[in-house]
Amino acid sequence: MMIVMNVDVNLSECNAMPAKTLITGASTGIGATYADRFARRGHDLVLVARDTARMEALATRLRADTGVAIDILPADLTQDADIARVEARLREDGDIGILVNNAGAGLSGSFAEQISAEITRLITLNTTSLARLAHAAATRFARQGQGAIINIASVVGLVPEFGMSAYGATKAFAIFLSQGLAFELGPKGVFVQAVLPAATRTELWARAGADPAALPPMMDVNDLVDAALAGFDAGEAITIPALSDAAMWDAYQAARQAMLPDFSNTQPAARYRA
Ligand code: NAP
Repeated sequence: MMIVMNVDVNLSECNAMPAKTLITGASTGIGATYADRFARRGHDLVLVARDTARMEALATRLRADTGVAIDILPADLTQDADIARVEARLREDGDIGILVNNAGAGLSGSFAEQISAEITRLITLNTTSLARLAHAAATRFARQGQGAIINIASVVGLVPEFGMSAYGATKAFAIFLSQGLAFELGPKGVFVQAVLPAATRTELWARAGADPAALPPMMDVNDLVDAALAGFDAGEAITIPALSDAAMWDAYQAARQAMLPDFSNTQPAARYRA
């Protein structure tokens, strides 16, 4: 994938530390798999999610397997006070050098059928908490001139045609925020990566109301996270593990950027003038 404005970021230095890593949504699925991989790379961890018992069980296994130090920080990232506690940890714990913004959920049904309160909760979890935690980390990382933020988005954020409008919009937010932060923070030494999984076998689908027996074949979560970390190690700003031809993403970005000069026009286009 095209690397945007990350030339000043010394990723190998970032990986060599190895920095303590805070992972949200670390009790299962993609987040728990990131926890496993970062522990095996020697990173101390802070695990964030609601299910303390599951995080304790994961931490016990990873401490025994790898010897890293692991803290559990229970938080419901739809709740303002809980988001604030995680923000405070990111601001105050100077050993944390990597944030994996992974916690998220889906929502079944069409937009018109979904319940407004559920859409609000989805947006709070998938976008508000993501942006607030990225901001808390970015402020300190930029001051320190190093650090990395991994935002777990989704290919759904590129595909309105899937009919998953509210969920896809939250993931489009995560993609845009990541690209913007890569542009803003890259020159300050902070690396930002957006990961866009396609359908991956985790609990997300059942939690969103899908019938597990009716699900199509999906990517294995281990393959997904290993590919995402290969993209991280390569310094990719955008990693789409399922995309076979990386040049397609580059062409998509080039088409978008080709419009930029017109955005300075002071007159409406001829087709809008009487
Ligand atoms: P998952 O297996 O359902 O795991 C979701 C994680 O988020 C769990 O650890 C859960 O922990 C945590 N979480 C959910 N609600 C939370 C809340 N209110 N506060 C704090 N933590 C919360 O899903 P996954 O597939 O691993 O999803 C991880 C990320 O990947 C999400 O952002 C998702 O949108 C994205 N993604 C997934 C797929 C896919 O096909 N699986 C595809 C594209 C993108 P607790 O329940 O313990 O709080």
